[in-house]
Amino acid sequence: MNPQQNNNSGRQPGNDGKKPKTNVWVALTVAIIVVLLIGTIYNAVSSSQYTKATYSEFVHAMDEGQLTEVEIQGDRIIYMTKDEAAKPASKQKAFFTGRPYGGDNMQLLTELARAGVSGDSIIIEDNSTILLILYYAGMLLLTFFMVKLLMKRVSGTDGPMGMGMGKSKAKVYMEKSTGVTFADVAGQDEAKESLKEIIDFLHNPQRYADIGAKLPKGALLVGSPGTGKTLIAKAVAGEANVPFFSISGSDFVEMFVGMGASRVRDLFQQAAKVAPCIIFIDEIDAVGRSRDNRYGGNSEQEQTLNQLLAEIDGFESTKGVVCLAATNRPEILDKALLRPGRFDRRIIVDRPNYQGRLDTLKVHTRKIKLCEDVDLGKIAQATAGAVGADLANLVNEAALRAVRLGRQAVNQEDLMVSFETVIAGTEKKNTVLSDTEKRMVSYHEVGHALVAALEKHSQPVSKITIVPHTTGALGYTMQMPDEEKYLSTYEELLVELRTLLGGRAAEQVVFGAKTTGASNDIQRATALAKNMVAMYGMSEELGLMAPSSVNNSYLDGQSYMDCSQETSAKVDSAVQKMLNDCYEQTKKILVEHRSLLDEIAQYLLAKETITGEEMMAFINAEKESDDPKPTQQSEQESAASQSDQASSEENS
Ligand code: ADP
Ligand code: ZN
Repeated sequence: MNPQQNNNSGRQPGNDGKKPKTNVWVALTVAIIVVLLIGTIYNAVSSSQYTKATYSEFVHAMDEGQLTEVEIQGDRIIYMTKDEAAKPASKQKAFFTGRPYGGDNMQLLTELARAGVSGDSIIIEDNSTILLILYYAGMLLLTFFMVKLLMKRVSGTDGPMGMGMGKSKAKVYMEKSTGVTFADVAGQDEAKESLKEIIDFLHNPQRYADIGAKLPKGALLVGSPGTGKTLIAKAVAGEANVPFFSISGSDFVEMFVGMGASRVRDLFQQAAKVAPCIIFIDEIDAVGRSRDNRYGGNSEQEQTLNQLLAEIDGFESTKGVVCLAATNRPEILDKALLRPGRFDRRIIVDRPNYQGRLDTLKVHTRKIKLCEDVDLGKIAQATAGAVGADLANLVNEAALRAVRLGRQAVNQEDLMVSFETVIAGTEKKNTVLSDTEKRMVSYHEVGHALVAALEKHSQPVSKITIVPHTTGALGYTMQMPDEEKYLSTYEELLVELRTLLGGRAAEQVVFGAKTTGASNDIQRATALAKNMVAMYGMSEELGLMAPSSVNNSYLDGQSYMDCSQETSAKVDSAVQKMLNDCYEQTKKILVEHRSLLDEIAQYLLAKETITGEEMMAFINAEKESDDPKPTQQSEQESAASQSDQASSEENS
């Protein structure tokens, strides 16, 4: 996760607290210069209207009785003589001179009166010094704030540093102590175990140096987004009680040429000053991607990467600087980064299993008031596939909901509702479906659920709904996995295929129509069938041949094919056959249980959301009543598949 997002109180910009003050001084200087400039220009412009006269010229004109108009303006006098006034207007000249009598107006006025200048032609515009000072101060203040505002606008930050001048370290974060410990990290025991040594090293680098042991300078945390990589890195700093520097690789990408490299240098210099410490580089793939241009190289990124490599090689491992980096795409990293002495340790941060999820929920509900009815185990069970960040989010949403509804504590309903918000998006009330569409969606969803229920002989879904969600799904069937599964048998995968196709099959059986609503189901079914054929060796056509390899197992595996065109065509036809067979079987199941399908679909149409238990009630009721034939048959089928299942589980 982006380090900027959780702005803890202890966190401050890396270049200490002086930055705002510097900006004030800069703005003030600019303001003073601007005001002085304006003053000078104003003076120059206003005096250029007049002809300069000496003081004695003025006194002479006064003595001669030549003055017609006199304007006393602050520290100067502007006057007009009779000679000048007689000339045509365009040629009129005014004179100005410094003030006589040490600025004493009374004496000047007396003299003027004696010289025969009438009071009407004298204007006194007395700018007292205090007024002048106030005037300038006002100007200064105004300019100052305008300059500051301008700086903010231009840079988006509060100073000229953000404009990309000078050495910018704005996005490096340093926390003196993170306050996070391993107790805050749920699960991830293997990751914690492999980091224990680093913590011990940070506690006492000298002990390692004395023996002559070299510790790895860096470790790479690998895992999907939100699995807690940042959290773990912080916990390492917290456990070792050392400062924590963090920066995100993506911050380097938008930088001006050369900036990335200089920022890396700054970062390591800062770190060396406070060692022992931890440097955490999030999303290292943004800078560390392979330089071979396969993914589109860029020279700024290469420079940054080279600098990073140089810095890592440069620092003495005995100093106690440990560099942790996080990525979810280790396969695109430059090999140079992974060489011994660099990020040669790889620590997998996996999606949590049931126990991990339960522990994560426990960690996040520690400070939250829970009602008696809360069963975190159920939530953990329902959230298979969710990562730590999802669970943290879920708990927070639940708490917000409880507050919104004016309750003092969080109850199970809050958790379940926010589970749906986090997993399936918020309920979208404004999408209005026509009645026909609603009927279609209802049959589609029941088709999935019914096939799953009949094939698995247990309650496979926790909820069916036809309330549209923001994710774009018009309805959905929430599966309830009973236990964590690492292995699936061929038969189980076929059941899964039939369940996926159940939606489309129901549309076909009931309405004789095909809708676009099934596109996601069909994509998933195709992907699964393809894996079964090309990866798990589960088809007759290809047998044990597995031409498909997984490219990236940390993001939902994009696989690629490595085989001849012939084989590729074989795979395609095998996939098609598998899908068609499954689809026919699915339709058959639904035709046999048509009355059940109708009943449940009608019920869902009326209630919009039903639970898995409600659905099972229909199925169990039918089993006991008049229609024993198809039930028996499907029981026989499943008995066979169950025994298959048992034997293959024994084998594995
Ligand atoms: P990543 O760096 O892998 O993308 P983060 O470390 O930023 O993920 O995780 C985001 C949030 O999710 C954390 O701040 C924490 O609240 C929560 N979280 C993730 N994993 C765990 C975990 N194992 N235990 C407790 N909380 C977790
Ligand atoms: Zn569907």
